[in-house]
Amino acid sequence: MAITRFAPSPTGYLHIGGLRTSLYSYLWARKTGGEFKLRIEDTDTARNNEDAMEAIINAFDWVGLNYDGEVLYQSKRTEIYKVYIDILLDNGNAYKCYMSREELDALRAGQEARKENPRYDGTWRPEDGKVLPEIPQGVEPVIRIKAPTSGTIEFLDGVKGPMKFDANQVDDFVIARSNGMPTYNFVVAVDDALMEMTDIIRGDDHLSNTPKQIVVYNALGFKVPKFYHVPMINNPSGKKLSKRDGAMDVMDYKNQGYLPEALLNFLVRLGWSNGDQEIFSMEDMLELFDPSNINKSASAYNAEKLLWLNSEYIKAVSNDRLIQELKFFDMDLSHHPKRTELLDLSKQRAQTLIELKASVNAILEIPTSYEESGVKKFVKEDTKAFLEKYINLLEKNKDDLYDVAKVEEITKPFITENGLKFPQLFQPIRIALTGGTQAPSVYDIIAILGFNEVSSRLQNALKRNFQNT
Ligand code: GLU
Repeated sequence: MAITRFAPSPTGYLHIGGLRTSLYSYLWARKTGGEFKLRIEDTDTARNNEDAMEAIINAFDWVGLNYDGEVLYQSKRTEIYKVYIDILLDNGNAYKCYMSREELDALRAGQEARKENPRYDGTWRPEDGKVLPEIPQGVEPVIRIKAPTSGTIEFLDGVKGPMKFDANQVDDFVIARSNGMPTYNFVVAVDDALMEMTDIIRGDDHLSNTPKQIVVYNALGFKVPKFYHVPMINNPSGKKLSKRDGAMDVMDYKNQGYLPEALLNFLVRLGWSNGDQEIFSMEDMLELFDPSNINKSASAYNAEKLLWLNSEYIKAVSNDRLIQELKFFDMDLSHHPKRTELLDLSKQRAQTLIELKASVNAILEIPTSYEESGVKKFVKEDTKAFLEKYINLLEKNKDDLYDVAKVEEITKPFITENGLKFPQLFQPIRIALTGGTQAPSVYDIIAILGFNEVSSRLQNALKRNFQNT
């Protein structure tokens, strides 16, 4: 049973990289019958904002990753952290350091000059038999944790394998500032322990924090969880993903007409795979996902793939669902008598909900202009004559035109009898009915619009001679 979490810092929108690690954490918790929690890391008050917090929660709602229990806010837990700082001071695993900013700067400068890693030199670290400097007047101390001074800090990363850090890479870092506020790595470790995390799945940009956090776990006698550090998402040329490569804010995907299941499917595959399988329903993901199969190398963002997945999901979800989704784009088909036919037809070619709406509108809206290149190519001298004939044929069958098969049944012989080729008839009809040549099957459009509308649009085009002015 895995207990996992997502722990965003609310400094902006929810990034797709963050959504991917939360999806992995969510899947692993749900799959194992565990718990998935949300913790907002809002201690850096200067960089936090309320809107960002709301944005993160809204994005979670949109994709449907539900978390267990209350959202935890680090900003409300200062008193808890102070209790643990006191425990460490009491058990001797942390100490007060009165080094002034100037002394610290001088120490750093010396280390830099000697090309050494900047690290605290242990001046105030208590040791048996060591005499500490005299406590200066008027200096509020910081609290430092006692980190090991020799040996290694090791853990088995679920993605990267055995990890080993030399103890000298971690110094006695500050766990509380002179104003008493606890620091980042300290609160993350305390929270993860108190929230009883078993598995921490996060971006590998946090890898270097892990040895520090392990020092905190050990100092407080907490069990160290299992870590999975997930490689970054890069752009197709292997560089850091940027706004130019695709949307970064999860909610932009909603605004661009993606379905949340397509985005989740896309993200699960960015960094994890199960053979050649590309389409993963939530059920599939829950059955198959295992964080120990997360790829060891960075993955490349592929916008085409996302579009393809989205078109597959648009085809697969119910029309009722599409009707709901289209409302967000100000299209309400809930009472349209031909909604099923309209959507069945339009969804075949739509890659996004925006394209779906455009394609529905292309049928429903009377064209305001005709595609000039199409007119030039397909509207010939004899077009008018056979279109008029065709209108007569439709009129004779007007009560049956709702039936696509019937439209086809009367149209095919008409084409043969008049010695036409399909595009000769269909392209002028498409242009007259929708304004362009890209519309889907003419039979379906006729069945959706019915005789009166079809006839009126055809007559109109003939009257204008397919001209825009
Ligand atoms: N708050 C950190 C971030 O937003 C994540 C911390 C963690 O996962 O341990 O990058």
